[in-house]
Parts: sequence; C-alpha cells; structure tokens
Amino acid sequence: MSWQEIEGHDKIAENFARAFARGRLEGSYLFLGPEGIGKKKFAFALAKTLLCQNLKVPSAGEAFTLEQFVPCCRCGSCRRFGAAGQKALPAGGKKKKASSAETVSDTAENPAHPDFFFVCRPPDRSTIPMELLVGAKEERMRSGLCYDLSRTPFFNGRLVAVVDDADFFSQEGANALLKTLEEPPANTLMILIGTSAARQLPTIRSRCRMVRFSLDEEALGKVLSRQGIALSADDLKSVLVAGGSVNLARQIQGEGLSAQRGKLQESLKSWLFSSGGNASEAVDLAAEVLADVEKAGKEPVERRARLRLLLTWALEFLRDQVRKYHRCEGTDISGAVRLLEDACDRTLQALEQIDRNALLPQIIESWAFDIDRSIHR
Ligand SMILES: [Zn+2]
Repeated sequence: MSWQEIEGHDKIAENFARAFARGRLEGSYLFLGPEGIGKKKFAFALAKTLLCQNLKVPSAGEAFTLEQFVPCCRCGSCRRFGAAGQKALPAGGKKKKASSAETVSDTAENPAHPDFFFVCRPPDRSTIPMELLVGAKEERMRSGLCYDLSRTPFFNGRLVAVVDDADFFSQEGANALLKTLEEPPANTLMILIGTSAARQLPTIRSRCRMVRFSLDEEALGKVLSRQGIALSADDLKSVLVAGGSVNLARQIQGEGLSAQRGKLQESLKSWLFSSGGNASEAVDLAAEVLADVEKAGKEPVERRARLRLLLTWALEFLRDQVRKYHRCEGTDISGAVRLLEDACDRTLQALEQIDRNALLPQIIESWAFDIDRSIHR
C-alpha cells in the first residue's frame, strides 16, 4: 500500500513525515521530475495532510509513522479540501472569487480552501503571469499569491501554496517571488513543481529545497496500467531511460515506436559506416530526427521528451557497436572504438542540452555534424 495511494513515492513521503515530526519542514520546496508521475498529486496530498486540524506533532521521542502522516478526512479543513488533486471541480463549483491566484485555476482542481493556494500557467500563456503572483499592476501586492501568503491562516495555523509549471517562470515573475521564497511567512509551505533542475532559474533553485521524483520500472508500470497504457517490456525500458515521462509512454503506445527505433538505428548504421566525404548524410539524419521530434506535437515538453527518447536509442546503438568491436579479436580496433566512444560522449552531451533551454533543431544539427566530422574526417 503506498502513501495516500500515490504510487512509488513513499520514500519522499517518509522524509516529509520525519521533517514534520521534528518540526523541520522548510518553507520552500521544488518538486522535480518527468511529466505525469504524480508530483502534483503528491503536493496536493501533502497540503491536505499538513492543513488537517487533527494532524498532531508527536512529542519528543514518540514514534511517528507514515500511517499517521495522513489527513483525517473529517475535520473542517479536510472537508473544505475535498478530493482536490484527484478530480476536477464541476464547472461553477467554486464558492467565491477569493483572489486572482485562485481565479485562474477555476478550471483546475483547486479546492475552495482558505489556506490553500494553487497557481499554474494558463494554457494560453507562455509564462506564469505576474498578476497571479503579485497582483495586477493597479493592485500590486494587494492580491496575488504573495499577498495571499501574507494573510493569517484560517484553520490550522498554516498556509500552503502549490505553484505548478515552475519551468515557465519569467525572470520578472521569479524576481517577484524571490522574497517570499527566501523568507516565507512563518508556517507557510510553498511547493513549486517543475520538470528538471536545469529548467529552473538559478535564483529560484537556490532558494528551494529540491525534491526529485522518479519511478522505478515496477511503479511506472503500475501508474501506466492504471491509466490504461500498456507497453511492451522494451518500450517501458525506453521510456524509463528517456526519463520516465507518462506522456511519452502514452505517445509510444499510440504510435508503436519500436518500429521507429529500428528505423533510426538503421539510419545511424548506414550513416556511420558509409565512406562519408560529404555532409549530406548528416543533414539527412538530422532532418529525420527533427521530423520525429515534431511528430510529438506542439508542446515543448513533449518534444523534449521525444528527443530524449531518440537520442537514448542512438546512444544504445552506439554502445552496441562499441561492444561488437570489443568482441573482434586479433584486429586493431582501438581507433574505431575511440571514435564510437566519442560519439557516445557527444550524444550524452546532447541529452544534457535538452534540459537547458537550448533550441531542439540546434541540438540535433550540431550533434549530427560533430559526430559526422569526427567519424568521416
Ligand atoms: Zn482533517
């Protein structure tokens, strides 16, 4: 049985329970991990637990287990929180327009709870709008999340805020949040949710305790099957190696990517072992990879996940070749192996670049050209 029926993150729940029992919760956390593995669900469950009026700090020396670190689901706070994070509120189900921060998430799973605040990037915006954080221009600091967090808690002496889409802070938005992140009001817990550390502004990263979410093969399999996604063992491994995103798993299931992996590895083979001499093969390969990335849809996060998968397949292929060379006895293979190992390193480097804000076509092209130059020079 996993903590509050959230698959695969019991270790993290235990750490929070321990920190709570010792009175050592931080003010600001940054939850990081691939799409769809339960970060938001965990943040909402944690919020409901910490806001519960029946959650008591154990006295010194008293045992405190994960089973005790759960909301009672009966108190006033729990009832107001409801089943948030698990299902969407019915349209028009909100009681009041308490603040701009709440208003935007009318369509999200925002509980009508006076001590809980949820902010996310509206679908039509490229960043989290300033007004959600510090109020619109004409009422700066008189509404928005930072204002909400300066108020007195209603229920349990604590305020909790969850900011989803932390990958999409503008510099201005991040600056507006810095003071609150650095010196959160007493008994305030702020949870930011993003996909990777590299995508966070350094100013944000340095002010939050980072908590990394990931799923092992078994837990990911369970999460997927609960969502009706069935993958072959090979495909499941690919998804894990490419970071473990549930969205990626969903795409793979729809498209039968095993065939694509074969195709990509064939192209790599004919490219690497061709006599070379002109760069057109590298151009073709880069174009093929880019076209595959674009198939993943318009969302940058989906495209990054797809490129991660493709480069992971390329790496797998290159490493296989190195292994094959090592099995050839009696011939001098050191030169070829070195070139292939360089290509592996260059691929790992490209994988790292995906998470920094680099442009994907640029990553793909420079990856293909660099390898081409070293292999075919
Ligand atoms: Zn309760």
